Amino acid sequence: VSEDRVIAFIGLGKMGMPMSRNLIGADFDVRGYDLSAAAQAAFAAQGGTACTSGAAAAKGSEILITMLPDSTVVRAALLGPDGAAAALAEGALVIDMSSAAPLATRALGHELAERGIALIDAPVSGGVRRAISGTLTVMAGGEAADIARARPVLEAMAERVFTVGALGAGHAVKALNNYVSAAGFAAACEALLIGRAFSLDEATIVDVLNASTGRNNSTEVKLKPCVLSGTFDAGFALALMAKDIRTAAELAAGLGRDMPGLAQAAALWQRASAALGEGADHTEIYRFLAARADGAD
Ligand code: NAD
Repeated sequence: VSEDRVIAFIGLGKMGMPMSRNLIGADFDVRGYDLSAAAQAAFAAQGGTACTSGAAAAKGSEILITMLPDSTVVRAALLGPDGAAAALAEGALVIDMSSAAPLATRALGHELAERGIALIDAPVSGGVRRAISGTLTVMAGGEAADIARARPVLEAMAERVFTVGALGAGHAVKALNNYVSAAGFAAACEALLIGRAFSLDEATIVDVLNASTGRNNSTEVKLKPCVLSGTFDAGFALALMAKDIRTAAELAAGLGRDMPGLAQAAALWQRASAALGEGADHTEIYRFLAARADGAD
């Protein structure tokens, strides 16, 4: 039975906020830190202890969770100036739940090990909706004993916890999942745009897809609520999706595997990200494809 009750949580964004809320709800003592003052205030309002730095959150914590944009930010938060790792005691466990790059995660693991700190990667799928309901899917990589130690913490946020391999394996599977997810979503958006040009009703196309073999998570939970509604508010940034597909493409390239569909998806989402800017939701790929189809790009 795990004795770990004191948890530092760095990165209180769209995902980190509801995930940390579920830890607080499971009676963990959660100390949070985010660069954003608004996030700090919202974290305190949900019952967490807001700290003035990552190091302050880490001090006295047995487990430290990161839920940050990417590997570069995770590394800086842990090992950069005023990094949180220096404030952790030997024997502490870091759980990186961000969607990060597998090889960077392995390198980080070696550096933390030199300080007597263990690392597992435990990225998630399910989006903001399932972060709120505590029903995320976790894909964990690392030493079996470290994952076992993390399990009670992960299960407070997730419905399913997969053990997928050595350190970095979780981040690899996550990047591959998001490639498949993004490819399915972009294909569905293209289908809608072609159908619209053929004077078909888009909602009818979605109904047919969802009763047919073209059905996927995006056709079910994104097309009507976020695209046809015009709200584009799924809560997952397009820039982060582009990062995940790039991670998958870099993984393939590093392994010497030529994957034409992946290369095209990486280029498409990168261009969309550059065109739509930082604040765009990933569902706005539809808008990018629509403008492009109309000859704007
Ligand atoms: P977000 O941008 O909403 O949150 C990131 C948070 O990190 C922000 O609040 C930001 O202020 C904070 N931050 C950045 N640098 C920091 C630093 N150095 N120290 C402390 N705080 C810092 O992003 P998100 O949607 O919550 O995603 C977080 C991670 O989870 C990403 O890797 C993303 O790819 C992944 N993810 C997101 C979703 C989703 O649906 N949003 C789903 C699965 C995985």
